Amino acid sequence: MTRPFSHSSLSSYEQCPARYKFSYVDNINKPYESIESFLGRRVHESLEFLYSEIREGLLPLFDGVIDHFTKGWNEKWHKDVVIVKKRFSTDYYFKLGTDCLGRYYRKHKPFASPVEEIEYTVLFKMDPEDDFQIKGIIDRLDYLGDGKWEIHDYKTSSRSMSQADANQNRQLALYQLGIQQVFDGVKKVDLVWHFLRHGEEVRSSRTVQELQDLKTKVRNLVSEIRESVQNGGPFPPQKSPLCNWCFYWEECPAMAGHNPVVKRETAS
Ligand code: SF4
Repeated sequence: MTRPFSHSSLSSYEQCPARYKFSYVDNINKPYESIESFLGRRVHESLEFLYSEIREGLLPLFDGVIDHFTKGWNEKWHKDVVIVKKRFSTDYYFKLGTDCLGRYYRKHKPFASPVEEIEYTVLFKMDPEDDFQIKGIIDRLDYLGDGKWEIHDYKTSSRSMSQADANQNRQLALYQLGIQQVFDGVKKVDLVWHFLRHGEEVRSSRTVQELQDLKTKVRNLVSEIRESVQNGGPFPPQKSPLCNWCFYWEECPAMAGHNPVVKRETAS
């Protein structure tokens, strides 16, 4: 059995096969992390803390959530956090995190959702005959009873998602396939995105046929990737604005030199 695929690894290949190769085939690790990624991780940890406390019968004050966020931010800050959008400062991103948490806290207090799992790792085959696995981490999984589930995902991205995009989204639909494998008696699954910068919630669901179509698309994509790996290519570079957030410029045949946004920042 090969290393599991994930929505993130599949997206990486779709966006730029060269980048996928450097990361997932050559296993070249870079120390850099974009501040958007750093911020997202700290916000996710803070919501994990919030719901962990609630599951213990405690309701943390908002100040307690912000303390957790601040502690995580300061302790995990490292010199290779990269700010690509130079018009924004570290303080801007820190405040963005506290704003996201504040908006979420006010909207959802007293957090009555029937939480079943937090940061739940799901590892599964879409069908038993598949010879590859899919892995994902579900931010929050709610069980509403009577076979009804909700998969929740927190986003700190600057843009929200249209309903049409939610209805086509692969990530949470893949997680649904995993939940259907792992839990018995799953009758209904709703997919829920929380866009924390905007305080918006977007919901969607999938028909049986849509899930079948998703499996076919994922199998085709995995076959294409595996064929490229076996043949040693091609992994063409795909230049786009995302190159600014890519740390493989030294390896990339489409680029010269190193990514100019990579520079050492100091903690706030
Ligand atoms: S710099 Fe751009 S083209 Fe090159 S590997 Fe990274 S994302 Fe792909």
